[in-house]
Amino acid sequence: MQRSFWLLSLLLSWAFGTDSLKVASSIRMLYASLESLSEQLPKVWWDRQWVGACRPKDIRSIIAPVRITLQKPEEGFYFVVPIQGALNSGFGFRRGWQFHFGLDIDLKVGDTVVAAMDGEVRLAGYDPGGYGYFCVIAHPNGVETVYGHFSRLLVTPEQLVKAGDPIGLGGSTGRSTGPHLHFELRFMGEPIDVSALIDFPSGELIESELYITPETFAHLSTLSSAMYHVVRRGESLYTIARRYGVTVRYLCALNGLSTRSILRPGQYLRVR
Ligand SMILES: [Zn+2]
Repeated sequence: MQRSFWLLSLLLSWAFGTDSLKVASSIRMLYASLESLSEQLPKVWWDRQWVGACRPKDIRSIIAPVRITLQKPEEGFYFVVPIQGALNSGFGFRRGWQFHFGLDIDLKVGDTVVAAMDGEVRLAGYDPGGYGYFCVIAHPNGVETVYGHFSRLLVTPEQLVKAGDPIGLGGSTGRSTGPHLHFELRFMGEPIDVSALIDFPSGELIESELYITPETFAHLSTLSSAMYHVVRRGESLYTIARRYGVTVRYLCALNGLSTRSILRPGQYLRVR
């Protein structure tokens, strides 16, 4: 296991440059190191067909701290903010029980969305119940970026892209309530909150390096300790709060409700 991480860090340190062949070969190496990791560790699986191709059961227990370079102009590696716009939904729990693994950025249908960094398109397709028209780009620095809800896709799998290249047009396809870009940055398949690194309203990168430690994935413990309750007929905020030993005010805060909210049978409430 240590060796895999050492390999991965080694890869991350030489992967830059403007040469597209070099980008492609470092991505091959990244895939190979993830594949060998999944062979060594039963809790890590690797399947290129999925958005989260590598999804360890608990990434916190297997990673060593690693620094990811997001931008290194002197080596020809740049970060371009995929779309400039207001952030309308952040990373974390929303409506109490649903966890949002990305950032939602406002846009207009037809706006051009660009690749954040040089890389290779790993997946591009249509996911009707989720991402809509989406693509996943693997980058030579060891992370992947995911872009969802396009009205039109402009890339195909295995296509090499440069930072700033158009990859899709803004839209609202898939599970979406209005035009926006759903953006994720993933390390070993696990999404990371990058709201402190990228300023979407101004279109600026705030930090040129992402430092990943087990602490980066602290939200996973909140997620695994979260508990839910399905509302049954006749139940109220008061009876549910009493049942779980919490206050009505706490339930309301967790679920974005007011104390006068009407509960529907079948509704999910987060209770812890
Ligand atoms: Zn989203």
